[in-house]
Amino acid sequence: MSVPRFWRRIHSLYRLEGVKCANCGKLYFPQRNRCIECNSYENEVFIFSGNGKIITYSWVYTPPKGFKGSIPYCLAIVELEEGPRLTTQIVAAEKKKVKIGMPVEFSFRKISAEGEEGVITYGFKFRPKGYPNNK
Ligand SMILES: [Zn+2]
Repeated sequence: MSVPRFWRRIHSLYRLEGVKCANCGKLYFPQRNRCIECNSYENEVFIFSGNGKIITYSWVYTPPKGFKGSIPYCLAIVELEEGPRLTTQIVAAEKKKVKIGMPVEFSFRKISAEGEEGVITYGFKFRPKGYPNNK
């Protein structure tokens, strides 16, 4: 991601910003222009609570190129309490404790120290609910 593009997106990165269809109220994360329920292009920014639960997960032992974190790491599909599902890394998770249905919460994180353009890239991850911040 280029530096200007990064700064345009910063607000949507440090909080879980999606959209709500202005016509039928369906919520989306990530944002999309057209509602798949009612075809409306009218929507408004919607900030999700950041609370969710693990729907399914797996432990990744062979990370993608450029990944510099510790392995294995936990990759999960999380269902937000407002409904939408997303794929995310679960940080600070102990292998024995991660299970389907486990409550998790949004955690703004540095994802890699050197992105493709040599900038620090940030994004969201999730952590077990109630885990202390900045760990
Ligand atoms: Zn709609």
